[in-house]
Amino acid sequence: MEQQFRRVASGNTMAHGRSLTVARLNLIALVIAVGLWLATYFLNETGLLVMLLGLAALVAAGVLAVIIGTIRKNKWGINFESVACPCCTTRLPQIRKPKSVQQALWGGYTCPTCGVEVDKWGRKIN
Ligand SMILES: [Zn+2]
Repeated sequence: MEQQFRRVASGNTMAHGRSLTVARLNLIALVIAVGLWLATYFLNETGLLVMLLGLAALVAAGVLAVIIGTIRKNKWGINFESVACPCCTTRLPQIRKPKSVQQALWGGYTCPTCGVEVDKWGRKIN
């Protein structure tokens, strides 16, 4: 199931490239901005307060996910250290060009020497 999804995801990448993801993120930001603007018109003070608390909770959940992700080394975490390819020990560049939507969203590398896919923690992805 997961492998199938991965195949579909990489297929999309081949067809549309990186711009698709950027366009989608811009759209999400636009929808949020318009939603906030509309909310200030239609909600009373209590409604706005509830909404702001909801947003604050979402941001807090995001920050928590990043902290836990960094400790547990999952896809939500941030890796500040440089990574080497687990197969040929080539140092992978800190600044990278994502080769797939998954890499653009969650980080990771494709080794320029042996072509192995590596996540942002330097673990091989099969
Ligand atoms: Zn390699």
